[in-house]
Amino acid sequence: MIKPIIIGNWKLNGSKKFIKNILKPLNQFLIKYYKVCTIVIAPPILYTNFIQNILSSDQANFFLGAQNVDTHFSGPFTGEISPIMLKDLEIHYVIIGHSERRVNHYEDNHIIAKKFHMLKQEKIIPVLCIGETSQEHKEKKTKEVCKKQIDVIFDLCGENAFNNTIVAYEPIWAIGSGQSASPKEVQIISHFIRNYIKSKSNNQIKNFFIQYGGSVTKNNAQELICQNDIDGFLIGGASLCLEEFTKIIKIINK
Ligand code: PEP
Repeated sequence: MIKPIIIGNWKLNGSKKFIKNILKPLNQFLIKYYKVCTIVIAPPILYTNFIQNILSSDQANFFLGAQNVDTHFSGPFTGEISPIMLKDLEIHYVIIGHSERRVNHYEDNHIIAKKFHMLKQEKIIPVLCIGETSQEHKEKKTKEVCKKQIDVIFDLCGENAFNNTIVAYEPIWAIGSGQSASPKEVQIISHFIRNYIKSKSNNQIKNFFIQYGGSVTKNNAQELICQNDIDGFLIGGASLCLEEFTKIIKIINK
């Protein structure tokens, strides 16, 4: 049986006060669950050191992730963060291709493929977000869109690209909208993604996970996680609330 993986994406939220309030109880709670679920918290990157200091006297029961990375290792790129720096900070997972970055920062499939490639070079696990817009959903183009987003990665990184990686299927219309995709629909697309990646990897894929993201809450987590091809969740809003996030982890543990 695979170990489910849950990532909390805090986005542009949090403060020292928020972190102090949520982190210790969350870490205590996870003592019981870290063996059955892999938990990752992706805070705004500048709080990484603050979090590591808060936990310095305790064993951390989760991994730290980042929400973005640059397409360069170093140099004159003001405001950017390199994969080497993330590695230096002991960041194990990095979210790339999130729709908020694709839309607000004009990141296209090629930029995202480059980020994926660089993370793999540093042996950091890329969490590649893919998914369709509401219009594409209406036009039944989901598989076509996901295929395109996957193909660029294979083109740049070769047939072993997806070993030790995570793909988060996130229908854009479901993110932060309170309107999750139906479990049945997510299963169909996740199954398609798994088979497609497997077939392009010469059927030799190792340590590959598919997450679902898009308005996951304690009310829909159970039905979603029961689907065969969903290995975990990428969670935005609900990861900012201790009660909601821990409830989801308890549900997954069942
Ligand atoms: C996300 O931002 O990746 C996400 C899934 O957000 P939410 O859970 O709030 O829909």
